[in-house]
Order: sequence, then C-alpha cells, then structure tokens
Amino acid sequence: MAQHTLARGHICPDCDGHASVAITLGGRTPAGHLRTITAHCKACHGTGTRQSGRTGSPSASAARAGR
Ligand SMILES: [Zn+2]
Repeated sequence: MAQHTLARGHICPDCDGHASVAITLGGRTPAGHLRTITAHCKACHGTGTRQSGRTGSPSASAARAGR
C-alpha cells in the first residue's frame, strides 16, 4: 500500500489502483516456486489508473448513478 503517488482522481475505480494481482494456484512448480498467475484489471489494462476522458471522470459516474 505504498502507491500514494497515484493521482486520486485517476485511480481506476474497478480495481482501486491494484491493477495487477498474483493469484496463487496452490502447490509449487518443480523448481520450487509458488504457482501463480497474474491477473490484470480489464478496465485499466493493468495500469491502475484511468486515462483522462469523460467515461472515467467521477462526475460522469455520479451523473450516471443519479439517473
Ligand atoms: Zn483497473
């Protein structure tokens, strides 16, 4: 949780800035490493932020929710 450099308004709302997560599958590889897969947020494609634009702005989301 050391990602304080992200601009607050630009954090991806879908993943809250945690765009990539390693998911343990259980067990270990023959080399002894944990078996994991990395999943990237579909909304921001693993960046954790939203590009500037109308669709990702908080005001647009609020407007949509109000209708
Ligand atoms: Zn995201």
